[in-house]
Amino acid sequence: MITSPAFAGKRWGVLGLARSGRAVAAALAASGGEVWAWDDNAAARAAHDGALINLNTADIAGLAGVIVSPGVPHTAPIFAAAARHGVPVLGDIELFALARAAMPPVRVVGITGTNGKSTTTALLHHLCAAAGLASAMGGNIGLPIMAASPLPAGGVWVLELSSYQLDITHSLACDVAVLLNLTPDHLERHGSMAGYAAAKSRLFAMQQPGSTAIVGRVAQSVYAVQSGPAETQYIDAVTPPGDQADWPGLQGPHNLENARAAVAAARALGITEAAIAAGLASYQALAHRMEPVGEQRGLLWINDSKATNPDSTAPALTAYPRIHWIAGGRPKLDGGGHADLSAILPQLQNVVHAWLIGEAAPYFAPQISAYVPTSSVGTLSAAVAAVTAAAQPGDTVLFSPAAASFDQYRDFEHRGEAFRSLVAQLQEH
Ligand code: ADP
Repeated sequence: MITSPAFAGKRWGVLGLARSGRAVAAALAASGGEVWAWDDNAAARAAHDGALINLNTADIAGLAGVIVSPGVPHTAPIFAAAARHGVPVLGDIELFALARAAMPPVRVVGITGTNGKSTTTALLHHLCAAAGLASAMGGNIGLPIMAASPLPAGGVWVLELSSYQLDITHSLACDVAVLLNLTPDHLERHGSMAGYAAAKSRLFAMQQPGSTAIVGRVAQSVYAVQSGPAETQYIDAVTPPGDQADWPGLQGPHNLENARAAVAAARALGITEAAIAAGLASYQALAHRMEPVGEQRGLLWINDSKATNPDSTAPALTAYPRIHWIAGGRPKLDGGGHADLSAILPQLQNVVHAWLIGEAAPYFAPQISAYVPTSSVGTLSAAVAAVTAAAQPGDTVLFSPAAASFDQYRDFEHRGEAFRSLVAQLQEH
């Protein structure tokens, strides 16, 4: 747990009592702070072990700060009430930043962007481990940060930061800050692309001179307007040691971008080229993200269930030479009832056959069949059986759905697990 003398003797509000909120409440209490905790959901309140005070109605004037879960929307009354009383609203990452002053000297890497945050965060953590550095992941990935064990001097915190989280982070001075890419996403929350970009680029404004900023191509225009005092490196210009062909956990052009970003960050941390090269080769993909799940029947099986829209699937389709592509699920339809596959259609050169499942099949089939042989097979299980019969040894079977899972599965994880177990069953025959 992260504790700090900075929290002692003060009264703190904690709004949102899911895992991270409960960790915040526990850390503040263990630090000698007084905690007023609340969640609008009764079940979440019941899971909290400590005083409950309704922050929506309480007099919050004396609070040192209110720590909100990233899921609490800006429209929640607490924001206006806090502004009225001059009470800062912060997230758990800001609490971590405040605790840092009393920690032994550690380094902090913040990673943000629209896509690839988890992969880049996990990869950099892995590169730190390959170099023998004490390292921990936090933010959107893994355990709530306030529940993490403190790192010794010289340790590296690798933080995955969503724009939601950056909105409620005010003083996190990253030694290395990474902005991978930006696409119009989460606009409902930030109101506009400019607002979204501003939230992301605040990461750089919080840096100190002597630190490093690492910026992706699509993010450069934003960065040019709102950079900070750090030395800048562009992801495009990074040459990693070795060859992507030797990195089984990092296939596809999107993962090359993630690898370049992580390599630049690792170099900024002083990690050696040998450790970086070894770490790239031994990195294992996160579950459901271009994840190799077996080599059954002479085929390489890849689970990319996390790719729930055409933009995410497009780079996956160029990652292997001969691809049997399994796709479908619940398609995202535009106002005219059309599934827009324009990101995918120019990327089908390596696809030898498309196998379509779920509600997307009638929307995808007419478009894709203009380019490659296409079969609508209904279910994932039928697709695996059909591919097994049709593919040649050495082919890759890529399950990158380009559609949501909800027509047949609870979520993308459930769908990816179903694929994994279907592939495992092939081995038993
Ligand atoms: P995040 O944590 O930002 O959601 P992940 O590493 O979990 O990122 O990847 C999510 C999905 O985004 C992956 O399944 C992949 O399809 C896509 N993706 C990963 N990296 C990139 C990238 N650098 N550029 C574009 N898309 C990417």
